[in-house]
Amino acid sequence: MRYCIIGNSAAAVGAIEGIRLLDRENPITVISDEPYHTYSRPLISYFLAGTKEEEGMIYRPKDFYRKNNVEVLLGKKAVSLDTVAGEVVLADGQKIAYDKLLLATGGKPFIPPVKGLSAINEGIFTFIKLDDAKELQQHAGAGKTAVIIGAGLIGLKAAEGLIKLGVDVTVVDLAPHVLSSILDEKAAQLVQRHLVGKGLKFHFGVTADAITENDGKKIVALADGTEITADMVIMAVGVVPNHGLAKDSDIEINRGIVTDNHMETSIKGIYAAGDVAENYDLLAGENRVIPILPNAYQQGNTAGINMTGNEVVYPGGFAKNAIGFFGLAMTTAGLVKDKDAEEYVNAADDSYVKLLVKDHKLVGFIRINAVDRSGILTGLMIDRVDVSGMLESLLSVEPGLIVLPADTRHSRLEGGAVTWR
Ligand SMILES: Cc1cc2nc3c(=O)[nH]c(=O)nc-3n(C[C@H](O)[C@H](O)[C@H](O)COP(=O)(O)OP(=O)(O)OC[C@H]3O[C@@H](n4cnc5c(N)ncnc54)[C@H](O)[C@@H]3O)c2cc1C
Repeated sequence: MRYCIIGNSAAAVGAIEGIRLLDRENPITVISDEPYHTYSRPLISYFLAGTKEEEGMIYRPKDFYRKNNVEVLLGKKAVSLDTVAGEVVLADGQKIAYDKLLLATGGKPFIPPVKGLSAINEGIFTFIKLDDAKELQQHAGAGKTAVIIGAGLIGLKAAEGLIKLGVDVTVVDLAPHVLSSILDEKAAQLVQRHLVGKGLKFHFGVTADAITENDGKKIVALADGTEITADMVIMAVGVVPNHGLAKDSDIEINRGIVTDNHMETSIKGIYAAGDVAENYDLLAGENRVIPILPNAYQQGNTAGINMTGNEVVYPGGFAKNAIGFFGLAMTTAGLVKDKDAEEYVNAADDSYVKLLVKDHKLVGFIRINAVDRSGILTGLMIDRVDVSGMLESLLSVEPGLIVLPADTRHSRLEGGAVTWR
């Protein structure tokens, strides 16, 4: 049995650990187009800001590959799959034969069609990998200016890193407020106040129509006629599944690579996991891409175990985010935009808690400056507990374990608590 994994991040690590749980012998080859030991992608903004060294970003210890008997091919891009012969073809022509293959190729930045963008060779960045942070760092510094297109998690994380380096940052988004996929208007206002206090400037409800260059400076023309001049432009509109390899073979793709509850694709022996794959969203009741690190790890781990010929079922997941911006902490989870859910809100000047409830079950929440014990709420969502009698306690900034029904409380206290990897 020869295992091959394309990608070297959370889903790949989950798969290696899943395989080695049950098979210590057979060879595993990992192919990665990045030149680095596996690292934690969410830390790139701290690296950019200079508050995290490269060494401190590793996702597993330096001896991880050796201890797990993994041959890792770094800086090698897989360019095609021969699903009949069972081979991965690399950019340098090398062929890697496999019996079981995992596609863990993650996401790639979505670049919107902005007029003039493709004609500019320097000073345009994306922000999803360590090399992006390194390049940006070389251009950033006090007195420099940046426009970030996209006020989502990645755009704001890039903004935080740049502000800490003394860069003057303006963020542009078509949405009416920051983090529009996970926050409502009121929660976003709280976050925006905090970010404006740290020096960020915003333009909402408007697109960047064109980018031109004059004497090395970029001029971003917004649809409302505003022009912003900057040294650099960061495209952070979103991330889409990086499924090119599957697209060129016969593997079924929807938005992400379609997988079953074993994380196997439509071709037997080929699995997919992480930001490239779609699988069951427990709360939405349908298959989706849920591009967060804990899901990538768990899906990869499930795939790894199944690749050994043993069987485990992926239970499904849902979106959860634990994010901090300049010391402001927030957690969100589940269907925070569900229009059919009942909403319960506890808003103060510096904190915000919102619960979304459907059929007496918690299906989503937003908690800002109230993140302690968020794991209790995700636990209630996973266990589908009737929360009718505990809404007041759950709305408090620090709900105690006592709000839980006795059996749920015991399982949480005995180590069943949800962990945020
Ligand atoms: C700035 C930032 C902040 C984030 N913050 C959070 C957070 O706070 N919490 C959270 O849960 N998630 C966060 N995320 C998302 C999280 O990082 C991803 O969900 C997670 O990394 C997905 O893991 P993955 O293994 O699926 O893929 P990825 O981490 O995307 O890794 C895929 C790897 O495959 C490689 N690859 C792709 N194609 C090929 C090929 N053809 N050949 C060889 N190699 C290839 C890629 O270069 C990459 O190294 C953040 C992401 C970013 C960018």
